[in-house]
Amino acid sequence: MLSFDVLVIGGGGAGMRAAIEAARAHECSVALLTKAHPLRSTTGCTGGGINAVLNSADPDDTVEKYIKDTIVGGDYLNDQDAVEFFASQAASAVKELDRFGVPFFRDETGRIAQSRGGGASAPRVCWTLGHAIAHSLYEQYLRYEIYDLSDVFLLDLTVENGRLQGVIALNIQTGTVFPIAAKAVVMATGGAGRIYWQRTTDPVDCTGDGLAICLKAGIALKDTEFVQFHPTALAATGILLSEAARGAGAYLLNRDGERFMSRYEPEKMELATRDAISTAIETEIREGRGYGTGAGAHVMLDLRHIDRGILQDKLKQVYDAAVKFEGLDPSESLLPIRPACHYMMGGIDVVDFKTCTTSIPGLFAAGECACVSVQGANRLGGNALSEVVVFGKTAGAAAAAYAKSQLVSDHASLQDGVSCWQLRFASVRARQSGISLTKIRERLAACMWENVGISRNARSLQVALDTICELKQDYESVEIGDSQQRGNSAFVHYLEVGNLLDIAYAVTLGALSRRESRGCHQRSDFPARDDANFLKHTLISKIDGDFHVNYRPVSITKYLPTERKP
Ligand SMILES: Cc1cc2nc3c(=O)[nH]c(=O)nc-3n(C[C@H](O)[C@H](O)[C@H](O)COP(=O)(O)OP(=O)(O)OC[C@H]3O[C@@H](n4cnc5c(N)ncnc54)[C@H](O)[C@@H]3O)c2cc1C
Repeated sequence: MLSFDVLVIGGGGAGMRAAIEAARAHECSVALLTKAHPLRSTTGCTGGGINAVLNSADPDDTVEKYIKDTIVGGDYLNDQDAVEFFASQAASAVKELDRFGVPFFRDETGRIAQSRGGGASAPRVCWTLGHAIAHSLYEQYLRYEIYDLSDVFLLDLTVENGRLQGVIALNIQTGTVFPIAAKAVVMATGGAGRIYWQRTTDPVDCTGDGLAICLKAGIALKDTEFVQFHPTALAATGILLSEAARGAGAYLLNRDGERFMSRYEPEKMELATRDAISTAIETEIREGRGYGTGAGAHVMLDLRHIDRGILQDKLKQVYDAAVKFEGLDPSESLLPIRPACHYMMGGIDVVDFKTCTTSIPGLFAAGECACVSVQGANRLGGNALSEVVVFGKTAGAAAAAYAKSQLVSDHASLQDGVSCWQLRFASVRARQSGISLTKIRERLAACMWENVGISRNARSLQVALDTICELKQDYESVEIGDSQQRGNSAFVHYLEVGNLLDIAYAVTLGALSRRESRGCHQRSDFPARDDANFLKHTLISKIDGDFHVNYRPVSITKYLPTERKP
């Protein structure tokens, strides 16, 4: 049986950073298991904006200001001690990426250039390409000879008497179900934006597997109702146009040619936070000032006044996306855009931000799958990648330290788990008829966008819960249409859709239970923030198949909640 001190699940930025840290100083065996190759993660396709206080463009910027911006942007749901830790570590994490070889844009003096992102009081975003971050981390990953388990799908965690034994996994190419013993496991499996399927900027494999597997293992999911919608995704494809465009001065226009943000955020205009802009766009569409109707409705992003040189250099990603995916030259044409699900603030409940440990000893979580509570109810652009490297490193170091303190564990339950999964794989493959998986996925996505989108209310959320329950029943009779053992990607997708159903339920239940509007959770029936009753984290757990809601206080150090300015 494969056996490691530290097993990292997920080959994105958080997973690679965790594996590197566990391997490089701690004399322990480390493996990284991932369903897609490490160079094909969300991290690798990001715009590559990452926040830190480097003072390149503003000598007066401080960590204190960064903390305040992150907490105000998060509408005071952030754990303030965690944010203080995070903000103080971000600069060294970015400088380390620089040393790893990440090619950041430079200013005329050669320092890492910085621009101002939405909701930030100072220029703090350092720009590169997500692709470059992934490649630079991958070079380090190869350097430390980490045992590579790519094209392997995590099926389950095995926990016996509160003690982690390891995981059960599926080799996608061979169809073999096999156990891996591990003293410590780091979950770094990314987000779950695909609950909205076509209306997300996330890659297709962001199916919340790690969250669903932890939920099943008895770990709560925290603050899942906080789903960030990026305001500027191309209307037809959901492909993201980064906020670098708005940072460089792009306008948002409605059908009347009006810069409508002047009515919602007159000071910040197009640099307001993402949820403020997303809400404004959907309001314009709903009130008839958008273009088109139904699923094709949109407003316009105007970059025509921006210098063509800037468009083709600093905004190259935006420029290329518009030309390649929409057939429009942004220096001549308006770009049709609409919000799409972009990021989940919630995730696996991390109970100690200094180690990224969860409620199961030996199980750690980092990156978008984790809720360390630094992003609160809404994250600032550039803060996800900072979180990935800061807490990837933290989790890797803590997992290695934990593993060194443990003796080899009993592996009996791992073998039992393998037998159960072999049976399930065989029985699903053998089905000759049943319900279409695609139909379930499409109904789920439509239901989530319609009822658990940017604006929610009790009625829409109850409709969503009822629909998800029906879909869960249908899921029991799915026919995947592939009886092969080897390379059965239909079975993998079947597992992903099952995970999406659980996460969609957790998102919706959290949203229904939170009877207030905060950050990107906007309830039309409870439009105000309600600190008296809801300045607390939501914890969703699943016990014997039933979902439960609990709460935990937010950690406040010195930033007392103040009213959010419109
Ligand atoms: C288009 C886009 C642009 C973005 N731009 C920015 C930006 O400029 N700045 C910023 O701060 N943030 C940005 N973000 C957000 C940020 O990129 C992500 O939050 C971050 O990259 C997540 O990193 P991660 O390592 O946690 O997860 P990921 O990079 O998503 O990696 C998850 C890994 O887990 C693996 N995995 C998942 N499930 C399983 C399973 N069952 N078994 C095995 N392996 C599994 C996947 O294969 C993958 O390797 C952007 C997001 C998108 C979608």
